[in-house]
This record gives sequence, C-alpha cells and structure tokens, in this order.
Amino acid sequence: MDIPRYWRLKNQRYLLEGRKCQACGELSFPPRLVCKKCKSRLSEPHRFIGRGTLYTFTTIYQTPDRFDAYSPYVVGLIDLEEGVRITAQLTDVRPEEVEIGMALEMVIRQIYADGDRGPILYGYKFRPILQK
Ligand SMILES: [Zn+2]
Repeated sequence: MDIPRYWRLKNQRYLLEGRKCQACGELSFPPRLVCKKCKSRLSEPHRFIGRGTLYTFTTIYQTPDRFDAYSPYVVGLIDLEEGVRITAQLTDVRPEEVEIGMALEMVIRQIYADGDRGPILYGYKFRPILQK
C-alpha cells in the first residue's frame, strides 16, 4: 500500500473510526459515506469502543507472501457492542483456542512489513478478553 493511502486510512485502522448517520443514527464500519438504511449523505465520524463477540471465524493456512510470518492465523466476523459486524484478524490466541461467542477487544498490532525495506504497517486486530 502506498503511503498517502495509508495515512488516509489511519483513523480507520488505529481508532476503529467509522461513520454515524446524522439522519437516522445508523453506524457503519468500514465507513460508508451514504447511509445504507436511509440513503442520507449526512454523516459524522464515529469511533467504536472496540469490544465485541465472535460471530464466526475461519483459519487461514495459505497466506500471501507478506503475511507468511503470521500463518496460520484466524480471521473473524465480530459483532461489535454497537451492533455492527466487522471482519478482523484475531491475535494473541492459537487457532485451536478460538471459540464462537468469545469476548474480544481491539488491539493495535503489526499487520505486515511491506518487503524488506518497505513500511511496517500497523492496524487493529482483536484478541480474547481474558477472564479475571
Ligand atoms: Zn441513515
């Protein structure tokens, strides 16, 4: 990914920032500029809390080259507390320990290093919330 695009996506990747429709309150992530519920174009940034539960998941064994250091890894569909379902990579958990319905929280992690000399990109992943 080129650097300007990376910076444009910074709030989305680091802060889990989506959009909130100013007409009907519908939340979106990734951010939509047109509300899927009421078609309004009036929206404002909305930062999600970053907690949710795992709806379903898949384990990825064959990865594109630059993800090799992380394989196998788990990609989940996560229901955020605010009621929006998003896709994200899970971290800090072995694939065999992943369970549907487990509580998750967002963390910032390295996504990949873009070649040997390219930028190391960071972004959100989700990890299990440890029971106290
Ligand atoms: Zn709306």
